[in-house]
Amino acid sequence: MRQTFIYKPGDIRVENVPDPGIVSPTDAIIRIVATCVCGSDLWDYRGINPAGEPHPIGHEYAGVVEEIGGEVSAVKPGQFVIGSFFASDGTCPICRAGYQTSCLHREFINGCQAELARIPLADGTLVATAGQPSGELIPSLLALSDVMGTGWYAAVAAEVKPGSTVAVVGDGAVGLCAVIAARELGAERIIAMSRHASRQKLAAEFGATDLVAERGEEGVARIKELTGGIGADSVLECVGLPESMQQALRSTRPGGNVGFVGVPHGVQIDGEELFYSHVALRGGPAPVRRFLPDLIDRVLDGRINPGKVFDLTLPLDQVAGGYRAMDERRAIKALLRP
Ligand SMILES: [Zn+2]
Ligand SMILES: [Zn+2]
Repeated sequence: MRQTFIYKPGDIRVENVPDPGIVSPTDAIIRIVATCVCGSDLWDYRGINPAGEPHPIGHEYAGVVEEIGGEVSAVKPGQFVIGSFFASDGTCPICRAGYQTSCLHREFINGCQAELARIPLADGTLVATAGQPSGELIPSLLALSDVMGTGWYAAVAAEVKPGSTVAVVGDGAVGLCAVIAARELGAERIIAMSRHASRQKLAAEFGATDLVAERGEEGVARIKELTGGIGADSVLECVGLPESMQQALRSTRPGGNVGFVGVPHGVQIDGEELFYSHVALRGGPAPVRRFLPDLIDRVLDGRINPGKVFDLTLPLDQVAGGYRAMDERRAIKALLRP
């Protein structure tokens, strides 16, 4: 099969490799119908994460089950499935508490920018749709495997409720999906922080009621101005940089919540500032698996359409062009068809 490898920063190649096979009886092999490039893949692509040896890349996927191990019972060959970027058993105490990305037996799934993928712990990890979804729903279903699930978790972690005032820091695919989540959870006011016209437009389409282009202290001042001087009830941090985290903390009202889902790079939090802010923080790798059944229903019902974040679709062989377009911010998110 063909599979995407990262050799070094800026060097993405598609290679022919042997097809994956069942290794453990809890595995499933899926034929990838759609996969994509993640904002977090760009950390490797830009050389911000240590490069290491050439390795397969890609952790977002939707596909059709091709083969299952002897102990798999929840999915069967021929079913269309979506799963999270961490495999989880679904049975340990952490999974039962809803934090499947910290499963005691979790395994990171990498190598999905390919024709086939081996998914460990298939029963706990994969969710099948009832029947084969129609083609136009595939991008939205694919988005559930990370960005939409992650945006949803940001909103849940920040305790967005009916009537809440929400600010979203970050206008990448996750930030845009966080706007959808805030709207679905009943937020009355959703302030999207973005300075790019095309992303502002999508944020508004997804439910943002206000747009703030300012950043840093000016951005905080704008949020305060829009919220009667006190800050937002819930702030969803979808970037992971020191400035964005500080902006999130300072834009939240006392007693409010920050949900942070941007993978932190160099973020330090001042304990004294946090203490006096009265702001609660919850974040981490989103337990996407917890939300999949509900989010699949919302996509199939046509209530949400997170697939709109894909503004570039390429055949797998042109994956390098997808990385380049996202790196240069010419594309929000690139979908790949193997
Ligand atoms: Zn991702
Ligand atoms: Zn578990």
